[in-house]
Amino acid sequence: MAEQHTGVGRQRGARPWPRPRRIATLSVHTSPLHQPGTGDAGGMNVYILEVARRLAEADVEVEIFTRATSGDLPPVVEMSPGVHVRHVTAGPLEGLTKEELPGQLCAFTAGVLRTEAARPPGHYDLIHSHYWLSGQVGWLAKERWGVPLVHTAHTLAKVKNDRLAAGDRPEPKARVIGEEQVVAEADRLVANTRVEARDLLDRYDADPARVTVVEPGVDLDRFRPAPGDRHAAMLAARRRLGLPTTGYVVAFVGRIQPLKAPDVLIRAAAALRERDPLLADELTVVIVGGPSGSGLDRPTALIELAASLGIADRVRFLPPCTGDDLPAVYRAADLVAVPSHNESFGLVALEAQACGTPVLAAAVGGLVTAVRDQVSGVLVDSHDPVDWARTLAGLLPDRARRATLGRGAEQHARNFSWDRTVGNLLAVYGETIAEHRERLASRLAADGALSCAW
Ligand code: UDP
Repeated sequence: MAEQHTGVGRQRGARPWPRPRRIATLSVHTSPLHQPGTGDAGGMNVYILEVARRLAEADVEVEIFTRATSGDLPPVVEMSPGVHVRHVTAGPLEGLTKEELPGQLCAFTAGVLRTEAARPPGHYDLIHSHYWLSGQVGWLAKERWGVPLVHTAHTLAKVKNDRLAAGDRPEPKARVIGEEQVVAEADRLVANTRVEARDLLDRYDADPARVTVVEPGVDLDRFRPAPGDRHAAMLAARRRLGLPTTGYVVAFVGRIQPLKAPDVLIRAAAALRERDPLLADELTVVIVGGPSGSGLDRPTALIELAASLGIADRVRFLPPCTGDDLPAVYRAADLVAVPSHNESFGLVALEAQACGTPVLAAAVGGLVTAVRDQVSGVLVDSHDPVDWARTLAGLLPDRARRATLGRGAEQHARNFSWDRTVGNLLAVYGETIAEHRERLASRLAADGALSCAW
């Protein structure tokens, strides 16, 4: 089974693991500068940014390569000391979908290789690629530069295709093949959870010695319960967001796409009306996020759904949130719902819990790690709105139970910090570099022995 890191600075034999000085992070299809919660920007963007910042604080420079998607972008942006985002021109600046990007991988790779070629030799010690498109670029770059490749898939096509929502497009065979190639070529695969590690081993035939689980984190300074009286803070957050100060609020936060299943929550609110009209009239469903992907992607489709179910007055839509508004959304809610058909991890679930709000989540993928069932929230083993309505009917009026779950949520979230993630990643990086150097040394020794024999 895949190894799980729990600490930093472990020793390899007598020597400490080497620490990279400089890392090339590859994020072809989405930039850490994009606003998460809409389009292709979500948890992966947050992950790359949070990790890069903390790596730089640990004296590891990070250069993030991403595709230029607008003519206004400077070639390089310094995001924070030691973290640079480099925009690579590959294909048209605007109007290219993620599905069209495989055709631009050669151009993107050329841009990455040219950048490195203009640098002194040995500029990067390691490449970390995110998502399979970047893994393809990393595969070639690692061979050219003679450095190891660490890859994080974030989502896997075979898993996603098993759990397609109505209206969602299956991932093409080309992606499955592309992922299999990256799994075979990467020196190390970082899985977000044990579930993902199992999928890599069982479904992608990954070498168990090269799979390591490193759980993502949450910014515990930003996402925390409001100080002072919780109820007063909830009311203040609701006022700030223009939400009703009476009754219950259940929030969905994320990209609006079929896989995230915000429709399940809306249908559950309608099913609750059948079951308990008085309770349903006290409920406001808040959907925060912007369009992404296919099918049910337009908020207009969700607005129409709510209207067709006769609950338009009970559903509020808010655009993607930045800055302090996101903690306010979590604090304003009695429950945060994550009904996804699949989730590699589910950062929203962690963020909500860190704010002391219990989470009602589908028991899929990383959510079974992100949420402790009956302790920090409730996992629902179904996407049937009737089951969701039943769970809502049990939880919403039970203030004492929600308060207990809220305390459990806050405690559970404390197990996940970005510092812990970065500590574990540094251990993976160090180990991978050490193994790579050992392989090189034994190859050189073998070559030497061969030339002596001649
Ligand atoms: N997010 C945000 N503003 C929004 C909606 C979402 O900043 O309006 C962020 C959210 O805080 C989280 C990320 O987007 O960090 C979504 O990550 P998650 O793992 O929940 O889902 P993914 O997008 O990776 O599928």
